[in-house]
Amino acid sequence: MSSGSGFSESLQSKLFMIVAMLLFTACSSKSLVDHPTTRSALWVQNASEYDAQCIQVYSVATQKLNDILSEQIKKDSLISQKPYAIIVDVDETVLDNSPFQARMILKGSNYNNEDWNEWVNEAQAEAIAGAVDFLTFAASNDIQIFYITNRDADTEEATFSNLSALGFPLNEDIDVLLTKYEREDWNSSKINRRAMVKQNYEVIMMFGDDLNDFYDAKNVSSSARDQIVINNRDKWGNSWFILPNPIYGSWEQSIFEFQNTLTETERNKIILNSLNPKN
Ligand SMILES: [Mg+2]
Repeated sequence: MSSGSGFSESLQSKLFMIVAMLLFTACSSKSLVDHPTTRSALWVQNASEYDAQCIQVYSVATQKLNDILSEQIKKDSLISQKPYAIIVDVDETVLDNSPFQARMILKGSNYNNEDWNEWVNEAQAEAIAGAVDFLTFAASNDIQIFYITNRDADTEEATFSNLSALGFPLNEDIDVLLTKYEREDWNSSKINRRAMVKQNYEVIMMFGDDLNDFYDAKNVSSSARDQIVINNRDKWGNSWFILPNPIYGSWEQSIFEFQNTLTETERNKIILNSLNPKN
């Protein structure tokens, strides 16, 4: 009888442990699913529609470049001009860092410099769909490609080898990978680096996933950002090409009015207030 009771107690305690573990697993996986970037990272990594949009952007750009090259042949006999260049951003424009975001979600963490640079130094990001073919086509037509990125200067070598291994056109003779603070005045705004390229080249196209890849929109309000987009209406799809990035970007910082010290409750309130139910 006593041994039967002991067995029952042991079974009960085992059952209790199993139920507790299941509850813990359910709770922890629920909180990971609730990470602010889970749905957007899920979309980037799993929706075929994401690749389709990227291919669409680079396909339109290829047609536009063909038009520009045809025009150039006509103009060449008339005027001399600076050599052509194309400026591309790196992250989420030519390289896909969604595995980094997946790591952050799965360990319940957020973007931080240490984890980010560790990922960058692994140099195993894959190419955004359509990017290698387009830039290879441009380079084969003697167009210089410049990569302007806010990756840290000390990750330049890893970034270069990542791009190179994927077949992106690079140049060993001149610096075409312009990283943040590689020079003192190369801050995150990118305007100084764009200006430097424009000194010697005619920039015919720019590619990015963030408004700041085209126009200095640092600390600019959401409504002013909308105005920048509208004011440059003619450039989109002609000389400015934007890739989708629902995971992160300056759009999000503008919603929070560039405040870095908000509590989670304050952030959640702003998020709900930023939704427009039109009633
Ligand atoms: Mg980017």
